[in-house]
Order: sequence, then C-alpha cells, then structure tokens
Amino acid sequence: EGPVIIVGAGHGGYQAAASLRQAGFSDRVCLINDEAHLPYQRPPLSKAYIKGSAGPESLMFRPEKFYHDQKIELIAGRAVSIDRAKRTVLLASGEMLDYGHLVLATGARNRMLDLPNANLPDVKYLRILDESEALRKIMPSKTRAVIIGAGFIGLEFASTARIKGLEVEVIELAPRVMARAVTAEVSDYFQARHREAGIRIHLGVQATSIEAEGGKVTGVSLSDGRHLPADLVVVGVGVLPNIELAAEAGLPVASGIIVDEHLLTSDPNISAIGDCALFASPRFGGSLRLESVQNATDHARCVAARLTGDSKLYDGHPWFWSDQGDDKLQIAGLTTGYDRVVLRGDPAGKAFSAFCYKGDKLLGIESINRAGDHMFGRRLLGMDRSLAPEKAADESFDLKSALA
Ligand code: FAD
Repeated sequence: EGPVIIVGAGHGGYQAAASLRQAGFSDRVCLINDEAHLPYQRPPLSKAYIKGSAGPESLMFRPEKFYHDQKIELIAGRAVSIDRAKRTVLLASGEMLDYGHLVLATGARNRMLDLPNANLPDVKYLRILDESEALRKIMPSKTRAVIIGAGFIGLEFASTARIKGLEVEVIELAPRVMARAVTAEVSDYFQARHREAGIRIHLGVQATSIEAEGGKVTGVSLSDGRHLPADLVVVGVGVLPNIELAAEAGLPVASGIIVDEHLLTSDPNISAIGDCALFASPRFGGSLRLESVQNATDHARCVAARLTGDSKLYDGHPWFWSDQGDDKLQIAGLTTGYDRVVLRGDPAGKAFSAFCYKGDKLLGIESINRAGDHMFGRRLLGMDRSLAPEKAADESFDLKSALA
C-alpha cells in the first residue's frame, strides 16, 4: 500500500504511528512534526507542568530511541501542500514525500484575541509546550492576572496562578463557567470553589481592550465599563481547527476536515483524525468535532487498524477530564441535548456526579472527585446501557450491579 505519512505529531499523530507499528505495518511511517520537541502530552501544560518544575522531558510520550527502534521517521518541519494526484506532500524545507496513505492530524490552534495590544509579551496563550514554558517562567514576576475565557484551560490556569499567589480575575461572556461543556450544576460548583480560593469571576462580560504603558500590560477594560488592573493576561477563548492544508488540496471542510464514519476524507488515500476532524458519527447522529485526548487517540487507533487490514466504523466512547485546584472533573459520554440532570452525592461534600438524561436515556456523567462513578459511566455507556434516573439518585443503589 506504500508509506504512511502523518502530518502533525500531537496526540493523534503520535498514536497513529505507534499503533501502525504495533499492528505490524511494515512500510515506511513518517511523522511530520512542526514543534521543536519530541511528541508530548498536552493536558499537563495547563495542569501539573505549569504548577511544577519538571522539565519538558517529563511530558514526552517516548524517548527518541523509541522512534528509532520502531522505524518511525520523525521529520522536523511543516507540511505546506498536498498533491493528491501524485500522492505527495511538500514540506516547507522543500522536501517532497510520497504517500500510499496520508493521515492529517494537524490539531487546532489558539483562537487569537482581536483587540489592540493583544500581541504584547504579557498577553499569553496556552496550547503548546513553548507557551506553557513561557508562562511558567514569567509567572513569578507577575502579581495580577486577568484570564479571558472561563473554559477548561482558562480555569485550570486560574487555579494554578492563584496557588502561586497571584491575584486572579476571570472574565467570561457566557452567564456561567464552562457553559458549553458542562451542566449548570457543575458550573455552579466550580464557580463557588474558585471564588472560595479567592479568584474573582466576572460573568456576562467581554474584554473590550487591553491597556498598556511602554509595552507593558496595565489592565483590561470590560464591556460593562469596569477596568481590571493586570500585569499578565492569559487568553483561553477556544481554538480553530487546522483545516487549511486539507482545504487547499480541495478536500471538503466545514468546522473541521470532513471525514466519514471510517475517518476517511472524500479522498480514499487521506484520513483525518483528532481535533481537526469533523467526523460522521452513527452513534450520536450527525457530525462531531471533539477536542480530547480520547478522541484523538481512538481515532488514531481506528485508522491504524484500517491501514493494517482491520477496517471498522469509528465508534469511540467520549471521555474527558479537567483538574482545577483540588477538584478533579471527569466526564463520561457526550451530554449534548440532555433535558434532565440527576445528582448522585452532595456538592456540599465536594464529591458528586451529575447524570445527564435525555428522557430515560443516560447520555453522560459529569463526576467531581468521584472517580468510581466516572469509571462506572464509561463501562456502562461502553455496553450501550442506561440506568434508571431513580437508581442514579439513590446512593444506596450499588452501581456495579448495573454492569452485571
Ligand atoms: P494536537 O495535539 O494539537 O497536535 C497537532 C500537531 O500538529 C501540533 O503539534 C501542530 O503544531 C501540528 N501541525 C499542525 N499543522 C501542521 C503542519 N502543516 N505540518 C506539521 N505539523 C503540523 N484533552 C483531554 O482529554 N483532557 C485534558 O485534560 C486536556 N487538557 C488540555 C490542556 C491544554 C492546555 C490543551 C491545549 C489541550 C488539552 N486537551 C485535553 C485537549 C487535547 O490535548 C487535544 O484534544 C489533543 O491534543 C488533540 O490531539 P491532535 O493530535 O488532534 O492535535
């Protein structure tokens, strides 16, 4: 079938290469890496890594020797164009690579804030290792951080900055934190916990300008007329999928690179996986683009299996986590479209789960400091089963019995 070229060496790209070799793929495997590091884990960038002092090597999936031993060619560079008729990829260096199959694992990039002064050195983003490193380095010299966006990354950073002794304010346009991703019950819990920790959260407001003097940030102005002093601004307003390479090659794109239920683009020699892929999902109906490690790695395994003769529909079960201060949030399933939330446990006791239902069907579970509920959810949903809402709410009901 010829060489497999993988563009992007993040969670999806790395896993695709590793899984191909694991499944016995014997032709050439090239992993094109435009970051100046061995492939690494992204989630700690806003969690343990930024909090601690461990070096970049603590994040690497594998040491260099692994790629050498597995004959995975790590190619430093950037793919700039695809010639689908000739089945070649052109790198920025001018190097041209032939492919039998091309895997696009280009991920996503930060959505940039379109405000004056947003490109000053004190305005930071958090997607790649170099950004986490830079932020970790300047934090000790800063006293007041304003975080724009109360999504997972913004809040994870906010708790760390607070633990490090900074004054922290978070501004968010939506009426509650993580509004697109979690139930109101879970938003309320985290809002209260962050406020207890001394973080000020401003909801329903937008940043209208960043003020600076002599190139140094002095504060952020809000849409309600207030002004928050700051010497550090961290922006977490979401990402844009990297679809341009595919689009310029004439592949259909929308809010992601469009792929079918096998993760194939309209070109049978090109797949797309992970954050950049808008995939058809028979299980959830319609198209989905997800941003999670589970999604990227399960996509990668599915494509590697197909390329080694074990073709099946992609049917992964979504799960996710976020660490904020002392709290661990874990999500099993996809809760979009829920119409009813049943709580198990007590938010006041700092350990509870929100079971999300559509009618009587369990869609997903958001667990806070209840790893057992989370694992239960993944197993139950993996078996395509539901759980009666009254059983979910009843703490004397043994969840394990629903798995038998
Ligand atoms: P990425 O990991 O983004 O990798 C894509 C790679 O492709 C990048 O290195 C990019 O530079 C490269 N690339 C792009 N274009 C080209 C090109 N033309 N040529 C060569 N290379 C190219 N998910 C969770 O499930 N749990 C978490 O707790 C969690 N925390 C996160 C915290 C942070 C700070 C961030 C940023 C993300 C977090 N995520 C988390 C999301 C998760 O990391 C992503 O969903 C995952 O990395 C997606 O993998 P991917 O391979 O699709 O893309």
